[in-house]
Amino acid sequence: GYRKGGYHAVRPGDRFASGRYVAQRKLGWGNFSTVWLAFDVQSERYVALKIQKSAPEFAQAALHEIEFLSEITKRDPSNCKCIIQLIDHFKHTGPNGQHICLVFEFLGDSLLKLVQYNRYKGIGLDRVRQICKSILVGLDYLHSELGIIHSDLKLENVLLVSTIDPSKDPIRSGLKPNLERPEGNPNGEVGLNPIEKKLQMRARRVLAKLAERRKSIAESSRAERSLDGIELTCKIVDFGNACWADKQYTDFIQTRQYRAPEIILGAGYSFSVDMWSFACIAFELATGEMLFTPKEGHGYSEDEDHLALMMELLGKMPKKIATMGTKSKEYFDRHGDLKRIRRLKFSSVERILVDKYGVPESEAREFADFLCPLLDFAPEKRPTAAECLQHPWLQYNDDKACEALNNGGASSVDLTHSTGNPISGICKNV
Ligand code: ADP
Ligand code: MG
Repeated sequence: GYRKGGYHAVRPGDRFASGRYVAQRKLGWGNFSTVWLAFDVQSERYVALKIQKSAPEFAQAALHEIEFLSEITKRDPSNCKCIIQLIDHFKHTGPNGQHICLVFEFLGDSLLKLVQYNRYKGIGLDRVRQICKSILVGLDYLHSELGIIHSDLKLENVLLVSTIDPSKDPIRSGLKPNLERPEGNPNGEVGLNPIEKKLQMRARRVLAKLAERRKSIAESSRAERSLDGIELTCKIVDFGNACWADKQYTDFIQTRQYRAPEIILGAGYSFSVDMWSFACIAFELATGEMLFTPKEGHGYSEDEDHLALMMELLGKMPKKIATMGTKSKEYFDRHGDLKRIRRLKFSSVERILVDKYGVPESEAREFADFLCPLLDFAPEKRPTAAECLQHPWLQYNDDKACEALNNGGASSVDLTHSTGNPISGICKNV
């Protein structure tokens, strides 16, 4: 929280880096930081200002992120590799200590917001294709040109490039920067009697409620804007957990649902862990639901459930792979069977797409053909990002697909209120 070693409290109008950056509004936050929209008075552009928590371990992580971002930005001067660009970095001293601040180009909403806006129903395979292409361009650059493993790919860490980009043109975008300094004590609590205080509290609750309503209206219109007939490029962000393929810092990486089997098994890893997460992202964009959501159960761990879910979807893990890791013995017996979860209910990506999400058979087959090689239990057999970019599924002709599937039906992502059908499926949206 906002205490010593923690987040730096920011008010709109606060200035950073000797007045160069003026805070506008909060854009988001992670475990390590808060991120603010700021106006750069020097370049007269909007930027994203990431203000790291101040404790030493967070400062260390920020320096680490700067190391990777500097290299990424330096080697991509034309800024076309679908990775966030670092503009500047500096230190800022506040009441909670010294915070390392990173300044980025300002991007749009994350893919998680995109999926939420569409109420977890999937965003349509044509849009999934577009986003996949961007992510793969970014991964190919990271992996084959820089030797970097991202290690934490997930929906929150991929941001859309907004077409209405106030950083390019603040005047036309209609977003007027707020350059007023905030006044006095932000809480203003001094000298109120109990009744006045009570009234003030009530007023605040009402105001907060109104603000919440305004926000939700503004967000739905933002979502429409962010989807309105654009080519849907996006960029990979958050290099706080990145590593060099030949200089790794820890065996334990990735966010649970996007974690590759070799990490759970403690069997070492390389670039292909990102390809596994990428496949999880592609599935989630298409269906609106995570590919794997493991849970701890009676007599088995979350890890073992995760391995069981993987095998139910992808087939039995080859014994050689299952028994290879430093943690293999925790989950597998010497025959290569799970110790505590015995009866597996086998299915396949294709079956799930058809039966659970209502994707037409032929579309499901082609999409599964794209995904399944990426979900190979043998990491070295997974295609690279460059190979993946050549896959026929990405070359698919969107217009033809639309026509074939829907006989010329509507193709817009559903942003209206729910019709109450939980399995309206991605086929309706394509
Ligand atoms: P953390 O390392 O703390 O997770 P991130 O770099 O992932 O921080 O940023 C946290 C959130 O802030 C993101 O999920 C996103 O919502 C927002 N954000 C980050 N960078 C930008 C940017 N360049 N433009 C717009 N929003 C951003
Ligand atoms: Mg993050």
